[in-house]
Amino acid sequence: MDALAAELLRGLHAQWPSHAELGGFEVEVGALLDLDADLLETTLRAAAPGVEVRIVRVEALLECEDCGAHYPPDEAPCPVCGSARAKAIAGTELGVRRAWARRAPGGAPG
Ligand SMILES: [Zn+2]
Repeated sequence: MDALAAELLRGLHAQWPSHAELGGFEVEVGALLDLDADLLETTLRAAAPGVEVRIVRVEALLECEDCGAHYPPDEAPCPVCGSARAKAIAGTELGVRRAWARRAPGGAPG
């Protein structure tokens, strides 16, 4: 988990060289990943003190390879045609979705 957190922060630092400017960031974690999102959040908070960390869980969605219907994994097999052949089209996301700047103290105009 430490290595994953470090990699996410490395990517962030490419855009935000200084923690002083980074106000916070949002990390997408797909539901299909075998990943403890709470532990990731804790690790990121510890690694980036003073920076707001938001974990966004992305629900899994499957696409039927026979009829093209989209459905959540708990409705499998395909509720439209009954096929068990499907691929994940959502739920495997992992990465920083967005980041934002720290507000200037005193609220600079603009
Ligand atoms: Zn189908």
